[in-house]
Amino acid sequence: MTTSHHHDQFRSLPITYDDIVQAHERVRDQAHHTPVLTSETANRISGAELFFKCENFQRMGAFKFRGAYNALSQFTPEQKRQGVVAFSSGNHAQAIALSARELGMRAVIIMPEDAPAVKIAATRAYGGEVVLYNRYTESREVLGQAYANEQGLTLIPPYDHPHVMAGQGPAAKELFEEVGALDYLCVPLGGGGLLSGCALVAKTLSPACHVIGVEPAAGNDGQRSLASGSIVHIETPNTIANGAQTQHLGQFTFPVIQACVDSILTVSDQELVDTMQFFASRMKIIVEPTGCLGAAVALGKQLDLRGKKVGVILSGGNIDLRRLASYFSE
Ligand SMILES: *Cc1c(COP(=O)(O)O)cnc(C)c1O
Repeated sequence: MTTSHHHDQFRSLPITYDDIVQAHERVRDQAHHTPVLTSETANRISGAELFFKCENFQRMGAFKFRGAYNALSQFTPEQKRQGVVAFSSGNHAQAIALSARELGMRAVIIMPEDAPAVKIAATRAYGGEVVLYNRYTESREVLGQAYANEQGLTLIPPYDHPHVMAGQGPAAKELFEEVGALDYLCVPLGGGGLLSGCALVAKTLSPACHVIGVEPAAGNDGQRSLASGSIVHIETPNTIANGAQTQHLGQFTFPVIQACVDSILTVSDQELVDTMQFFASRMKIIVEPTGCLGAAVALGKQLDLRGKKVGVILSGGNIDLRRLASYFSE
């Protein structure tokens, strides 16, 4: 592994490898160093040697704790005194609420009033002040900005922020440090916070590694953006991968993805269900639909991975058990 090379072509990007190293130090005592699992059955299916980085075992159940904590821990004393505001109905909400609690800050989380009750409850349980809004009549951006302006809170977006992006990178850094150089790295893609951080790590620690972003087939805006060279906007995609229902990549994530990602592939909801079932039945782990995006490619037929060493980020495991069961009963 080359650890000393700092590529000139990456120096002008919104984040650097050094930012990721510093984020790792900052978050080390708070985030779990998640395990890397292997499976003979998965290796037999793919013909490859697969290494699953289990961020479904991260605190609050997804990698998003890493980026949220990295961002909040860099607030100025004044920002810390006032607190943070975020809008999300998913893992970002819980990540911000938990990080704020650990840092002794106030967190206001703006969620749609029809968000699943379990998610609202989980966010409140981590100490977040949940503000409900009507998705059809109110804009969460306007509401978030109002809280930021009137109450002096700092708005932290789910992916398009350099501190959030750098904070996600250590998920891949830990993987490379544990298993060495890889031929491929498959990473779930929504807005690109996770992919940008992980891809920069891959190109720094294992330059020959092919970095593959994987998004739901219902919304291949990332794939189209990479092909066209500018950020493509789409309607909210209809998919069970609710952590990847983003409408576009970010202004900060996109240049990193352009510089460090080799290709973006898509998978169907049925492939995600099959992959969830594989993890539950063969590896005895629960991975949420979005968390299965990279694995669906690694276990599928789109790439010939025979004889290759392949890393796969399992990005999260938060799914309602009744919902999970419903996917498995036809
Ligand atoms: C948010 C999320 C993603 C997508 O992450 P981005 O940084 O938006 O690309 C993937 N998987 C899970 C479980 C998530 O919560």
